[in-house]
Amino acid sequence: MSDEREVIEQAPKQLFVAGEWRDAAEGGKLAIEDPSTGDSLCEVADAQPDDAKAALDAAVEMQEEWAATPPRDRGEVLRSAFEALTERADDLALLMTLEMGKPVAESKAEITYAAEFLRWFSEEAVRIDGRYTVNANGQGRTLVMRQPVGPCLLITPWNFPMAMGTRKIGPAVAAGCTMVVKPASQTPLSMLELARILEEAGLPGGVLNVVTSSSSGSVMGPLIEDDRLRKLSFTGSTEVGAKLMEQASGGLLRLSMELGGNAPFLVFDDADVGDAVSGAMIAKMRNIGEACTSANRFHVAESVADEFTDKLAEKMGALKVGRGTEEGVDVGPLIDDDQRGKVAELVEDAVDKGAKAVVGGSRRDGAGYFYDPTVLSDVPDNARLLKEEIFGPVAPVKGFGSEDEAVAAANDTEFGLVAYVYTSDLKRALRVCEGLQTGMIGLNQGMVSNAAAPFGGVKQSGFGREGGVEGIGEYLETKYVAVNL
Ligand code: NAP
Repeated sequence: MSDEREVIEQAPKQLFVAGEWRDAAEGGKLAIEDPSTGDSLCEVADAQPDDAKAALDAAVEMQEEWAATPPRDRGEVLRSAFEALTERADDLALLMTLEMGKPVAESKAEITYAAEFLRWFSEEAVRIDGRYTVNANGQGRTLVMRQPVGPCLLITPWNFPMAMGTRKIGPAVAAGCTMVVKPASQTPLSMLELARILEEAGLPGGVLNVVTSSSSGSVMGPLIEDDRLRKLSFTGSTEVGAKLMEQASGGLLRLSMELGGNAPFLVFDDADVGDAVSGAMIAKMRNIGEACTSANRFHVAESVADEFTDKLAEKMGALKVGRGTEEGVDVGPLIDDDQRGKVAELVEDAVDKGAKAVVGGSRRDGAGYFYDPTVLSDVPDNARLLKEEIFGPVAPVKGFGSEDEAVAAANDTEFGLVAYVYTSDLKRALRVCEGLQTGMIGLNQGMVSNAAAPFGGVKQSGFGREGGVEGIGEYLETKYVAVNL
């Protein structure tokens, strides 16, 4: 296993265009920071609009050839990349922790999760099907075929620097699409490593192009408006997603939008409170709370609310905060000072309005963007953190009376990505799951992420599904042939 200096030195830092590693057109550089210290780790190429155009040129040039490549061959590239990712998980995890901050064990879990999408879609590549039916009147036939959408633009966020990439790249490669990928400017190193792994796995030059840039708007804008682009898949904030949809409307691009969340976590009085607390720790603290799936607010039956709050506070208070590379650390830094400032502001707002910090509630002094794991009780209805995505290690707990009240509170948000439900009553479980306005539900479990399941949201959390049998469909067009027979 390499050390910190080695993984940074060895990571690719150039743009990957048409199968070649090259500097940005004007030689610009973008500094990458370690969020646990605020120190600079290294610099990567800072692309200009001409670089992005060259990347799209390469994707367009390769589209026909890649679409015509046998599905088994496309799948084998993904399978080899799955194996390489798994083999190099230790170094990749260390690199991810350095640029993103989460503890190494969590980075390693992300590498496993990311690799699973490559394996899953290596298997899906050979299962793209269509249909052939006899028309109702017996005259003629209907032939339905599935074909790749065409060149795609894939834009990913910083919170899962590798998995948000493989969740898009896997199905695009499997379907026979070429692509330009733009990782978040704060965490490009994991994506650049992934590009190198796919190159080594035999992906032909031009199928995957990676553009890193500090000016995402001006560099991506012309690509989104280029009529050769056929699809945009975006994971990030609702605000940016909505802006990109407007830009994409000119070209009527196929869209997948994986946007923000505000997950409710419901604990009914018939739940096993110990299990609910264990699930809450995962739903809240995975990725330091910086996940679209993070439990944003805990709605707990009045009769068990105190017990749940005390047990949750005990576990949250016992977490070790520190640099993600240190042994035994559970909670790393937030991504930057802005993100930490936003979390602090939401907590201050809630406390000013009457909430009580049972544990935590403050930033850590010193270098790095650390914030203490926090549990808030007596959270008033008008606290902003019940409505806004916290994206940090803060758990507000609120009591509820009836089941109807709980479901109404859960749905009282513009978002609809995921909800968590803890109950031991089967009928209630199904009733509540049917009533929740979300794309996903964790029933008696604190995590829903699974390469074999359709991940995605409703309402302001977006549309489209990643993973599962649905995932590849986002990269396929349906063509119908009316057959005269
Ligand atoms: P963000 O600010 O929306 O950025 C996401 C990506 O979009 C980054 O690569 C960013 O590049 C790029 N971007 C920003 N403005 C752009 C523009 N005008 N044109 C083109 N690209 C642009 O989101 P974030 O803060 O990185 O990520 C956190 C958000 O992502 C949260 O809301 C979270 O819930 C959501 N998320 C959703 C899912 C899901 O599956 N639903 C999964 C993970 C995260 P720069 O880095 O250069 O700004």
